Amino acid sequence: MSTFQAPKGTYDLLPPDSATYLAVREAIAAPLKKSGYGYVETPGFENVELFARGVGESTDIVTKEMYTLTTKGGDELALRPEGTASVLRAALEANLHKAGNLPVKLWYSGSYYRYERPQKGRYRHFSQVGAEAIGAEDPALDAELIILADQAYRSLGLSDFRILLNSLGDKECRPVYRDALQGFLRGLDLDEDTRRRIDINPLRVLDDKRAEVQKQLVGAPMLRDYLCDACKAYHEEVRGLLQAAGVAFEDDEKLVRGLDYYTRTTFEFVHDGLGAQSAVGGGGRYDGLSEMIGGPALPSVGWALGVDRTVLALEAEGITLDIPASTSVYAVPLGEEARRVLFGVVTELRRAGVATDFSFGGKGLKGAMKNANRSGARYAIVAGERDLAEGVVQLKDMESGEQEPVALDAIVATLQAKPA
Ligand code: ATP
Ligand code: MG
Repeated sequence: MSTFQAPKGTYDLLPPDSATYLAVREAIAAPLKKSGYGYVETPGFENVELFARGVGESTDIVTKEMYTLTTKGGDELALRPEGTASVLRAALEANLHKAGNLPVKLWYSGSYYRYERPQKGRYRHFSQVGAEAIGAEDPALDAELIILADQAYRSLGLSDFRILLNSLGDKECRPVYRDALQGFLRGLDLDEDTRRRIDINPLRVLDDKRAEVQKQLVGAPMLRDYLCDACKAYHEEVRGLLQAAGVAFEDDEKLVRGLDYYTRTTFEFVHDGLGAQSAVGGGGRYDGLSEMIGGPALPSVGWALGVDRTVLALEAEGITLDIPASTSVYAVPLGEEARRVLFGVVTELRRAGVATDFSFGGKGLKGAMKNANRSGARYAIVAGERDLAEGVVQLKDMESGEQEPVALDAIVATLQAKPA
């Protein structure tokens, strides 16, 4: 073992398990790619102000969980804790919203960083695939995103998850509710940390998991009773579209998300096999965020799904993804001359599109065949001096165990014609 270990709260993705992570990322991205979302990639760090937006409402993600650093040049940067602000920043910077084709629909996949207390399903470095639809206020867009996430999870074979849905109101009705809630919360017996939260993000107190807090929240004013007519109508439309699509959801009037910029539609995907870290993904509408970061009014909606927790959800449901072996042919040379000849064949096969690997390091037949087996390759080609003298290689079907000589100059065409 080396003296270095992965930093606390992080882990490495290594074969063979890493293949599952890749497959999960691809499965989440697939429905987006087919629904008009274009790929966006932004830096792993941003100027800290992009996430810490002045005073007013704030969140644990910004105040406690963000990794910040000062560069040698004096810039204040933050490792990105989430994707939405970066993607919106990038879209605004490139004037994508002025091209006259709103909404701008983007998807992304990458690493995110939060200084959290590490535990199962909660890491300091984790991975999300996300989608943002920027610049349109249309309940069908909210519904589209929820339907596509549902489709992604189902394509992985997951079924033990639920969709929680709520509306957080807009800039008309939310402040009225916020005042009412703050008034109620200030009358409760709460610790100092939570009292501070009443000022900066009172809705988040509703989400407190502690029983002694939940007990006191009985009778708290609920946002549902404060929604303005426009928000109510919008929410009903989203609900109706989901119902028509056959996507089941649960109304959860206490659902608030960890980020401060959500308005109207908010949702979370929870998986029932994950214990405390049950949220596998979440998102919602953020109609005010563009203006918060200096852009024009651009009502938008998006989500981010956690890759790490989705993999844990697969494990919880006992699902093994059907990942085809990456290698179809494995070449085993016996001796110097065979190494040169077979290496040439391997290069030709690869150029012909056949996934091929090679036994490196001058191994004997036994060790090399063990590796051939491990590679999952359907075929092995083996050649020693005598084979070469006869102008053939031995082609072995690893499934049936059958072996036959094939002319050296026909081996590429023969293998190309075989089913992978
Ligand atoms: P939680 O309430 O569990 O802290 P969150 O509300 O902070 O989640 P979001 O910011 O909405 O999560 O991120 C979307 C998804 O990213 C989450 O549903 C989860 O699957 C994943 N995620 C968030 N934080 C972490 C983390 N520290 N480790 C692993 N996955 C995470
Ligand atoms: Mg969190």
